[in-house]
Amino acid sequence: MDISNYKDVYVFAEQREGNIQNVALELLGKARTLADNLGEKVVAILLGKDITTKADELIAAGADKVLVVDNDLLKDYMTEAYTQAVSQIVKEQKPDILMIGATTIGRDLGPRVSARCNTGLTADCTVLEIGDKRELQMTRPAFGGNLMATILCKNHRPQMSTVRPGVMQKLKPDNSRKGEIVKYDVAFNVDKIKRVRLIDTVKEDKATADIIESRILVSAGRPMGSREGLRKVEALASAIGGDVAASRTVVDAGLIDHSNQVGQTGKTVRPELYIACGISGAIQHRAGMEESDLIIAINRDKFAPIFSVADLGIVGDVHKIVPMLTERIKTIKKQS
Ligand SMILES: Cc1cc2nc3c(=O)[nH]c(=O)nc-3n(C[C@H](O)[C@H](O)[C@H](O)COP(=O)(O)OP(=O)(O)OC[C@H]3O[C@@H](n4cnc5c(N)ncnc54)[C@H](O)[C@@H]3O)c2cc1C
Repeated sequence: MDISNYKDVYVFAEQREGNIQNVALELLGKARTLADNLGEKVVAILLGKDITTKADELIAAGADKVLVVDNDLLKDYMTEAYTQAVSQIVKEQKPDILMIGATTIGRDLGPRVSARCNTGLTADCTVLEIGDKRELQMTRPAFGGNLMATILCKNHRPQMSTVRPGVMQKLKPDNSRKGEIVKYDVAFNVDKIKRVRLIDTVKEDKATADIIESRILVSAGRPMGSREGLRKVEALASAIGGDVAASRTVVDAGLIDHSNQVGQTGKTVRPELYIACGISGAIQHRAGMEESDLIIAINRDKFAPIFSVADLGIVGDVHKIVPMLTERIKTIKKQS
């Protein structure tokens, strides 16, 4: 493959029901840095139906250009139609880099596009940087999270990566930014698309908050992995205006839903405050929370690895400290 004529940093701008997903804005923030390093442009790919008006949001978030494919076939996410559209764009436009959110949609779409375009894909990247030879260095946990591997895609283009929601940071929207909006035509192979029909969409009940969006998280580890322990964690979260998260041990015990798990096989969170209650701080857990603004760890073992990423550590029994903290916060709130 002649890779010399591939250029620009592309982002698949995922939308659901016409709403641009946060992960797309986060990827645009990262794409901006990468493109500026390379002296190239940031291009967003926006697929959907009656979606063109959303292009401005992508420009404000860092895109120089938005390629919009507006088509009935793209109203809802369908694997084949979306794969055809992105693959055609890649083959014609020849991006240097293509980033996709590691959501259920992105995880379905990314590998198919990479296979059809005969290039590689590095999934779940946590760090993306430009190297000395202008190559994309894609870093992700490997071997069960025990080491970080930096992967290069030397001989094929685009250099493709997926990134989980919450890992990269979006830019502050700048509505004064100017960009180009291009309507893009795709020659769909309708016969292939029509093999699968969308019959119904069933939405999961979202009774609890999405921890990715939470500003404050109180997170339960193994010693809080009982109904009584979780009640203590919930009480602290409620006193401080936060949400409850957990390590994998508590999720595996069936006490809290997997959607609340933080870490390599859970979610990556970046709250303003993360309180780890009896969490050892295994690398797989830290991978999902170490970018939090302020980390407070409570653990009776002063050598617990969680203290290596904590801004503030409390050594002691979590069963005593969590209720004490809760009472103290309630008292302070009453006084103020
Ligand atoms: C491929 C892979 C993926 C994984 N993905 C994830 C993931 O996404 N998220 C995740 O969390 N884990 C994940 N894990 C598991 C991870 O390796 C750890 O086993 C897990 O995070 C440990 O959870 P924990 O800290 O709650 O429990 P433990 O490791 O058992 O730690 C409990 C901690 O509580 C402290 N403690 C005990 N009693 C008290 C007390 N009374 N007061 C104060 N402190 C106390 C102990 O000192 C200890 O540090 C993964 C593992 C693998 C191999």
